[in-house]
Parts: sequence; C-alpha cells; structure tokens
Amino acid sequence: MAPRAVVTGGAGFLGSHLCERLLRDGWHVVCVDNLVSGAISNVAQLHSNKMFESIQHNVSSPLYLEGPLDAVLHFASPASPVDYGDHPIATLKVGTLGTHNMLGLARAKGATFFLASTSEVYGDPTVHPQPETYWGNVNPVGPRAVYDEAKRAAEAFTMAYRRAHGMNTRIVRIFNTYGPRMRINDGRAVPNFLLQALQNEPITIYGDGSQTRSLCYVDDLIEGIVRLLAADYAEPVNLGTADEVTMIQLATRIRDMCGSSSQIVYKPLPEDDPKQRRPDLSRARQLLDWAPRTTLDAGLVQTIAYFRERLARDRHA
Ligand code: UDP
Repeated sequence: MAPRAVVTGGAGFLGSHLCERLLRDGWHVVCVDNLVSGAISNVAQLHSNKMFESIQHNVSSPLYLEGPLDAVLHFASPASPVDYGDHPIATLKVGTLGTHNMLGLARAKGATFFLASTSEVYGDPTVHPQPETYWGNVNPVGPRAVYDEAKRAAEAFTMAYRRAHGMNTRIVRIFNTYGPRMRINDGRAVPNFLLQALQNEPITIYGDGSQTRSLCYVDDLIEGIVRLLAADYAEPVNLGTADEVTMIQLATRIRDMCGSSSQIVYKPLPEDDPKQRRPDLSRARQLLDWAPRTTLDAGLVQTIAYFRERLARDRHA
C-alpha cells in the first residue's frame, strides 16, 4: 500500500509544491490548510488525483484522521513578515499549539513528524554564515517574535516529543525560498520587486538595501526536504542556497530581467530586519548529498513567467 502523508499548509507556496512532489513519488497525500495565506488554486490541479485528499482545517485545533499515516509534515504558518504582522496570534498559535497537535497526531499514528522550521530561528545573526550549531540572536518582544519564537518553540516541542516518546522526527530550517505560487502580494522582497517591476512602478527597497539574503529556488528546496524525510536524522538541517545577494542587487537584477523602467525608491527598514543571512550548508551536503542547482537567473525566469501569467489572469478576471 502507498505510504500516506499529511501536509499542513498544503495549499501554501511550499506546501503545494511538497504535495505535488510526494504524489509523484507515490505517496497518498492529505492536504490540510485553513487558507489564511494558502489558496485552493495552488492545489486545483491535484484534485483529480485519487491519491490526493484535501481538508480545510486550522491545525491550531486538534485534527483527528481515520486510517494509517506514515508522515506528518507540518508546514502551516504565515511565513512572510507582512503576513505574520497581520496575523500575530494565529502565527504564534500555529507554531506552538499547531505543532503540539500535529506531534500528537503523528504519535497516535506512529508516523514520522517533519517540522518546517526557519532561518528566522537565528534572528539577526551575529555569526555568518549560519551553521545549525548557532543558537541565534532573536528579540523575544519584537514584531518578528511571533514567528521566530513560535518556530523555536516548535523545534523544542519536536525534540521533547522525540526524547520523551522515542518518536521519529525531522527539523528543516528553511532559508529564503522563491518560485511560482508565491502569493503575489505576500509583501516579501521577491514578490514585491517582481510585481513592481512588471507594472513599471517604483521598486521599494527598505533601508539602504545593503542587507543580504540567499535565495533558493523552490524545486531545489523540495528535493532537499524529501531527502531529509528519507534520512534518519533528528538534529536541525539548514536548506537554502549559499549565493548571497544584497537587496539592491536583487532589485536591479529583477528590474533588468523584466525589461522594466521602474525607479528604485527607499523606504524605512522594518524593525529587527536581519542585516545578513546565508546558510552554512555543510550538514545538508554531507548528510543528504544535496546542493541547490538552480541559478538565481534561471529561477527568476520561471518566477517571472508565473507572475506575468497571474497578472494577466487578474486583469481579465
Ligand atoms: N525588502 C525590501 N523591499 C520590499 C520587501 C522587502 O527591501 O518591498 C527587504 C526586507 O526589508 C528584507 C529583505 O528584503 O531586508 C527580505 O525580506 P523578505 O520580506 O523577503 O523576507 P525576510 O528574509 O526578511 O523574512
């Protein structure tokens, strides 16, 4: 019989790519999403697949499912700073109560629990690049704390359940990822710059634009995730790319690739915005024999095509 997985946040950006990939690998997939930041259209193409089930539910409340389960992959959470600023309490709840509930579900079924954690556990890092052994520099009372601290608690919950109940668990720390199906108005740098460039509107850089991020293409990330699921390893594993760019470099690259005439304008830097971010990927390389393969330009070509198509669809709606 096919193995069966629950993917929470399955109608979101990463969740929908993960559902698709697991189905392709022969899994039976149960997508669970409350559609706060996810969208049914992200999984519309999967509904005809007999191996795909979809449930609208907020996993901050318990979820009881019939039948066997082999894996619970907990990806539900607002993940853009704008989204978690708009939904601070829901973000805290899904990272803490939601993680507790999904650990309970996994435990009841004897399933592997897989936590989608984040580079935000490192906060505004004082160690660069960031290895998994770095404990981070997080402001516990700042606006990003609802996400950062919830994810840190989620990691602690995961390790506690492993230690207390001998559960099979995984933790991936996901660095900035982009690609088709990002919500076009989620407020993050890549969607904002793309939307602005494609509409020849001013490109908004926050602060002086010297802050860096390392941008991983979604297909590479998903490949790392399925490899980690198959590995027997409980400590956190960073996934992302080591290609670090400043926000000015990103904005100008996107503008050039879109053939846009947008001006660049500067806006205030949000509170606690990390100055630099790049994963140390040694652990993923050694453990999973994994490395990201997609260049920023190649990934942006795919993402620009998606954004163009979305904008055209919205214009005709
Ligand atoms: N940013 C920006 N202009 C925007 C949106 C974001 O300059 O319109 C900056 C933001 O301040 C941060 C970086 O881009 O320094 C990445 O932000 P994003 O929201 O994509 O994700 P983060 O890595 O901060 O979670």
